[in-house]
Amino acid sequence: MPIYEYVCQECETRYEKFVRSRTAKVELKCPTCGSPHGEKAFSAFSTRGGSSSSAGLGSVSTAPACGSFG
Ligand SMILES: [Zn+2]
Repeated sequence: MPIYEYVCQECETRYEKFVRSRTAKVELKCPTCGSPHGEKAFSAFSTRGGSSSSAGLGSVSTAPACGSFG
């Protein structure tokens, strides 16, 4: 099940939201200011087909920079 990341447009707080369905309406609420105005954010380290790694900047130099598959 996907967890989307949102950025509060009021105070720019990043928070994650558990979404059951892509079409389901998500009730956003900033944990800091309580504002419902959030914009979906894209993870900086999220790449297509990439594995999710947590915490830390690793030295990734194995994957080719210009490889396009499908
Ligand atoms: Zn906020």
